[in-house]
Amino acid sequence: MTDSELNTTVYYDDDADRSHIDDKTVAVIGYGSQGHAHSQNLAESGVDVVVGLREDSSSRAAAEADGLRVETPAEAAAEADIVSILVPDTVQPAVFENIRGGIEAGDTVQFAHGFNIHYNQIRPPEDVDVTMVAPKSPGHLVRRNYESGQGTPGLVAVYQNVTGDAREEALAYAHGIGCTRAGVIETTFREETETDLFGEQAVLCGGMTALVKEGYETLVDAGYSPEMAYFECLNEMKLIVDLMYEGGLSNMWDSVSDTAEYGGLTRGDDVIDDHARERMEEILEAVQDGTFAREWIAENQAGRPSYTQLKHAEETHHIEQVGEPLRDLFAWADEESDDAETAEAAADD
Ligand code: NDP
Ligand code: MG
Repeated sequence: MTDSELNTTVYYDDDADRSHIDDKTVAVIGYGSQGHAHSQNLAESGVDVVVGLREDSSSRAAAEADGLRVETPAEAAAEADIVSILVPDTVQPAVFENIRGGIEAGDTVQFAHGFNIHYNQIRPPEDVDVTMVAPKSPGHLVRRNYESGQGTPGLVAVYQNVTGDAREEALAYAHGIGCTRAGVIETTFREETETDLFGEQAVLCGGMTALVKEGYETLVDAGYSPEMAYFECLNEMKLIVDLMYEGGLSNMWDSVSDTAEYGGLTRGDDVIDDHARERMEEILEAVQDGTFAREWIAENQAGRPSYTQLKHAEETHHIEQVGEPLRDLFAWADEESDDAETAEAAADD
């Protein structure tokens, strides 16, 4: 179904042909955020599902209590026609070597993020289909939306199509987990991986936290109270983002005061200036040429020394010490914890 105002095609329930998955067995490897949602949604959609978990898995009891059949990853993969790899990206290469033997010609290896395929950390056999079905949401919402009859928007991509029916099968899987109820767009492994990494580094997780911290420190260093700086630079961020999310930039500008609008329109580009744009282009280049991927893989192989150090510095930043007691004093934090969880997990994908 093509919307003439879009540069892309959006697929809905009617565009998916469930016969491409209904007589197949799907192995869902992992029962974490995405894994529990995909396996339960597929099973309730009538698809034969087997969950693959390591011998000592702490999730086995939960999966069985949810009515699912559990095998080891290698057994589950051997039994299945579609193997959906839903363990953390950093452990996927090792897990894949463990299940490789059970993946036969004509089977499908499926991902929810393109990193390991795009950066050649997993090289699947040449005689299998390789696809992606990636809900644009954390797993608990994929599950909750399915249960409530709504859907979760998602992406599909095909990397290898030996059977000729990889795309149709991916759409059928997207139907099974509820994504085509909300709408699914087609992308490539390269585009999904590179835009995802760039966005989380430059704009969402990295860019936004840096903006918040610099603003907070500017106010506190100038003698304003940390509590005021926290509200102004961190807490209000959500209110502004919500307005943009609901109706774009114009909706936000229309909702704030004229003074805020004039001040923001005249000063924003002074902060995020040509220099910031050059840094963004460098970040994108490091994503595109694999520099970032190599760095992150080496960091994991070395036991995550920089990651651990940076994480600690962030956790002990002044704004964190000011924010924690403040959030406890106000009621909104509890009410909106679902939203916070959503944002946190969305940044993980
Ligand atoms: P999780 O971190 O939630 O996965 C946890 C599961 O992986 C657990 O069942 C765990 O097993 C298993 N696991 C961890 N390490 C190993 C190992 N060494 N061997 C075998 N099993 C292991 O992953 P996510 O659901 O967050 O991510 C899965 C995929 O989905 C990734 O590719 C991610 O990029 C993508 N994605 C994630 C999104 C999100 O919001 N989280 C959104 C969109 C895509 P055990 O139970 O035994 O501990
Ligand atoms: Mg098999």
